[in-house]
Amino acid sequence: MNQEDKFKSVISHAKEYGFVFQSSEIYDGLSAVYDYGQLGAELKNNIKKYWWKSMVQMHENIVGIDTAIFMHPTIWKASGHVDAFNDPLIDNKDSKKRYRADVLVEDHIAKIEGKIAKEIKKAAKRFGESFDAEMFAQTNPRVAGYKEKIESIEARMKRCLDEGDLEDFKQLIIDEEIVDPVGGSRNWTDVRQFNLMFSTEMGSIAEGANTIYLRPETAQGIFVNYLNVQKTGRMKLPFGIAQIGKAFRNEIVARQFIFRMREFEQMEMQFFVKPGTEMEWYEHWKAKRLEWHLGLGIAETEYRFHDHLKMAHYANAAADIEFNFPFGFKELEGIHSRTDFDLKQHEKHSGKKLQYFDPETNEHYVPYVVETSIGLDRMFLATLCSALQTETLEDGSERMVLRLPKVLAPYQVAILPLVKKDGLPDKARAIIDSLKMEYMCQYDEKDAIGRRYRRQDAIGTPYAITVDHQTLEDQMVTIRERDTMTQERIPIDQLSEYLYKGLRA
Ligand code: ATP
Repeated sequence: MNQEDKFKSVISHAKEYGFVFQSSEIYDGLSAVYDYGQLGAELKNNIKKYWWKSMVQMHENIVGIDTAIFMHPTIWKASGHVDAFNDPLIDNKDSKKRYRADVLVEDHIAKIEGKIAKEIKKAAKRFGESFDAEMFAQTNPRVAGYKEKIESIEARMKRCLDEGDLEDFKQLIIDEEIVDPVGGSRNWTDVRQFNLMFSTEMGSIAEGANTIYLRPETAQGIFVNYLNVQKTGRMKLPFGIAQIGKAFRNEIVARQFIFRMREFEQMEMQFFVKPGTEMEWYEHWKAKRLEWHLGLGIAETEYRFHDHLKMAHYANAAADIEFNFPFGFKELEGIHSRTDFDLKQHEKHSGKKLQYFDPETNEHYVPYVVETSIGLDRMFLATLCSALQTETLEDGSERMVLRLPKVLAPYQVAILPLVKKDGLPDKARAIIDSLKMEYMCQYDEKDAIGRRYRRQDAIGTPYAITVDHQTLEDQMVTIRERDTMTQERIPIDQLSEYLYKGLRA
């Protein structure tokens, strides 16, 4: 299956099994807005729990908060979002399609990277076993030419973005002969800046309503509460504040399913540190966050770091953890060294001191901040994409299996009476009653047992318990594992412990 088909199958699987629906579907949908269905809500909650546990519960010096979506409008002036939270947009006059100019250039660079990979593959075939890919990439003149080209495009784009030179940005697109991915035309408009914040009004007009914004990131709720938390929680540097919540961005181009949405959720952690130690912490959190991803058992080759070219207005160092989505390596999480930019800006605009008193040095200072920021929906998509697999079994038949990390599966266990009679359903429900406080259980009695197993495979349920006639006599059940499909016979009173161990393996 090629990558495009793979992505289509992920999207249709997500719909068919109740993970993700288009928002307002009966009204033909609302662009880049999605709803999570009965299984999607469970998977999403499990990702949240997994993140919260590892960031908050496992760290003595990190606490979690939950701040409002509406905030004082001056916050967004102070943070720089009113003036600088822009994306460069460009339209194609023939296709009438709108694009993010930087994404067009990045996709163009990815094509050149693809050419490098092709050269390496060709050479590997030619030279056989003795081939040293790294050496080849360093010395081959054609590869060197491609690399130089990439570097010069990146440098030019960075200059355009840093200096707001939108004229040269358009010229870069023309010089590189970048075409409209849909129509193939090079008939481009000028590049313009577009602010991504949604605004609305609070209060009635009679009261003199105020324009306020839907937060484009959850981080500012943390910054403006940092002293509240520090004081009431008696926190000492370095310490972190975590938050999970909705964010809103009026994205120029919203495509690729839940990868880029206009309403989405972020899981962010701001780590407050002593000035001068931020690079150490930046490296620390880069490593820690990659470890978190790998801890889910998804292959290391699916992840890579990408250092930012276009640094956000607040950062002095920034890297993305990219995931190998079916449409290529794309940002899943950002790790940013935000300096003292936000806190200093809030001091300036609010007129309140946001300094930390360091009891060790007897100094007052504004802490520096290292942030980790991951999109919950993107994590959901990464998890689904890597989990969905079609397998050919020994007997030649196919099964669709969602190999979700067990801790994230919507249902942990399915309980299946072999037949709908002879007291087996009652026995199955009694087992559910004994497990449901601890585990999400699903009862299913319809169709032959093989088909029921397939249904559970398709939604990623790690274990299926079958209750048969023998169970009524010996109080034993058959438990089947999703990935290996192996079956074991175990006593009912050992189920809870068995599941506890298995789900943490
Ligand atoms: P991109 O370059 O893809 O627009 P970004 O660099 O603007 O992303 P950040 O501001 O660093 O993103 O936001 C942190 C995280 O929030 C991202 O790594 C991503 O996972 C998530 N995120 C950002 N925008 C969206 C969106 N429109 N839809 C879903 N998730 C998003």
